[in-house]
Amino acid sequence: MTQKILVIDDSPDIHQLLKVRLKNLDVSLTHAFCGSEGVAKAVETKPDLILLDVHMPDASGFDVCRELKGRSETQNIPIIFLTGAADVDQKVLGFELGAVDYIQKPFDSAELNARVRAALRTKRFQDMLAQRAMIDGLTGLWNRTQFELRLQDEVASTQRYDRPLSLIMLDVDHFKKLNDNHGHPFGDEVLQAVGDALAQTARTTDWACRYGGEEFALILRETNLDGALILAERLRQLIEGLTLRDKGQNVRVTASFGVSCSELCMNPVDFSRRWLITSADGALYAAKHAGRNRVRFADRAVVTPTTETHLAEGI
Ligand SMILES: [Mg+2]
Repeated sequence: MTQKILVIDDSPDIHQLLKVRLKNLDVSLTHAFCGSEGVAKAVETKPDLILLDVHMPDASGFDVCRELKGRSETQNIPIIFLTGAADVDQKVLGFELGAVDYIQKPFDSAELNARVRAALRTKRFQDMLAQRAMIDGLTGLWNRTQFELRLQDEVASTQRYDRPLSLIMLDVDHFKKLNDNHGHPFGDEVLQAVGDALAQTARTTDWACRYGGEEFALILRETNLDGALILAERLRQLIEGLTLRDKGQNVRVTASFGVSCSELCMNPVDFSRRWLITSADGALYAAKHAGRNRVRFADRAVVTPTTETHLAEGI
């Protein structure tokens, strides 16, 4: 994947030179010619690496570095300083401010390439680790932490832009019995197959997550209740149709579904991540209670202290 480099330097010649010297790397360059433009472009383009000139007329590279490291959107972007002089104090200050490296002008082509490549390699590795921390190891879906964060964001934009937001929660039926009868490796296979079904059903704007244990969640952005119910029913059928075999036998797997939607919340003041989870979980409980392998949607009445008890106890 092509990585992005932002060059912040007041000299057009330096931009031109870097373009030529870095042309053999699989990178795309963005250019800024002063500190304020640099900060704006860093926020806008989220580069993988910033090459930052120390001496610029409007702001020193150190001030720009301080600002970038002080903002949450840009604090993790590695910075390499472009320095003119072999001034040790300047280099030390650069490292203290959080820069990963420095390159001295005039550039030695091989050194420039090696330092840029090393910084990009580290960034790629960090991104991979950060992503792993958000992914469920068994199913490859987003994990619970990521579910909470995404739902928080989606609830905030639903409130801001007045768009519908739906949540499907589903739970594999009689999962404990499946584990007891067929063993935990088979249980894992079931969870993986259900995870695949979720990933297959999710559209590009949806968030398919493992909520915990045998419980899963689908966050559906800009989706009303009707749309969410159609997706839930499609997923129910997909899971019911899974062909799982153990010791030469077909094993039937089904799941129960609870669906909730911002449209169901009568008072916008009550609408929150907690409301959405509680109401979807209440509907899931109702689906279990009605005989499992079915879809139920929430109504206002389900969000009661009783539902909270079910949540705490687990269904
Ligand atoms: Mg300069």
